[in-house]
Amino acid sequence: LKDEMKNEVAELKKQGVTPNLTVILVGDDPASRSYVRGKQKASDYIGIESNLIELSSETSQNELLKLITQLNNDPNVHGILVQLPLPDHINEQSVIEAISPDKDVDGFHPVNIGRMMTGQDTFFPCTPYGIIQMLKSKNIPIEGKHAVVIGRSNIVGKPVGQLLLKENATVTYCHSRTKNMEQFIATADILIVAVGIPHFIDGTHIKPGAVVIDVGVNRIEDGSLTGDVEFASAKQKASYITPVPKGVGPRTITMLMGNTIKSAKNNL
Ligand code: NAP
Repeated sequence: LKDEMKNEVAELKKQGVTPNLTVILVGDDPASRSYVRGKQKASDYIGIESNLIELSSETSQNELLKLITQLNNDPNVHGILVQLPLPDHINEQSVIEAISPDKDVDGFHPVNIGRMMTGQDTFFPCTPYGIIQMLKSKNIPIEGKHAVVIGRSNIVGKPVGQLLLKENATVTYCHSRTKNMEQFIATADILIVAVGIPHFIDGTHIKPGAVVIDVGVNRIEDGSLTGDVEFASAKQKASYITPVPKGVGPRTITMLMGNTIKSAKNNL
C-alpha cells in the first residue's frame, strides 16, 4: 500500500502539489512521541511533507485553537493531526471540532463521523479503516458475517462497527456493561477487540475458524507491548489473527497517509 501511495504522491508532485501533514504534539508523553515518529517515518517513505509542531504542556487551549485556525487557513497544509491524549486542561473535543473537516485526516470530526454514518465518502478514522482494508486485502469475507466488536470508543469501537455494517456484516457491540460476553464471543465470525486490557480475551470462547483482530496496545511490566488478546491460545482457534505489535498499528499509520493524499487530491 505504501508503495502505491509513493507513486500517487509522485504523480501529485508532477502536478505541483506536495501533500502536507502537519502534526501538533502538546507536551512530552513518550508514547505520543513514538507514535509521531512512526507517522513521520511513513510520511518520509511515501514522500509526504510532514511538519511537526511541538508545544509545551503549558500551552493554553486558546493558543492551540488559534494555531489550528492558522493551519485551517494555510492552503499548503492538507492534513492536521493533533496527537492525543492532550494535557488535562485542554478539552479534546473542542480541539477535534476546531480542525476543518476538510483537513481532519484522523476522521474524528463529528462532520466526518456523520458522513461515515450516512454512507458518504469521507476521511474514515484510521484504525477502523485500516482493519477493514486488512480484512479485504486478505480476502476475508465480511458480508453476512457476525462481527463482534468489544469496545465502543469514538476512535476505534464505534467506527469499526459502522464500517463493518457498511460492508454488510451483522454487528454486535460489547462493552463494560455487557452481560455474558462469552456468548457473543462464541458466535463471532469476526472478533474485534479494542478494550485496552492486556490479554483480556484468550482462546477459550473463540469460535473455531474466527478472524481475530487485536487492536489493544498495552505496555506490560517488562516494558514490552502486548495486545488485548492472549495470542498463543487464540491462535489455536482462529483462522486469522493479528499480532501485537506489528498488527493493526502499522496499518493505522498507512491509512493516515492515505487520508492525507486524499485531502491533497481534493485540493487539485
Ligand atoms: P477506550 O477509549 O479506553 O475504550 C475502551 C473500551 O473498552 C470502552 O468502550 C470500554 O467500555 C471497553 N471496556 C473496558 N473494560 C471492559 C470490560 N471489562 N469488558 C468489556 N468492555 C470493556 O480505548 P480505545 O481508545 O478504544 O483503545 C482501545 C485499545 O486499542 C487500547 O489498548 C489502545 O491503546 C489501542 N489502540 C490501538 C490503536 C492502533 O493503532 N493499534 C489505535 C487506537 C487505540 P465502556 O464504554 O463501557 O467504558
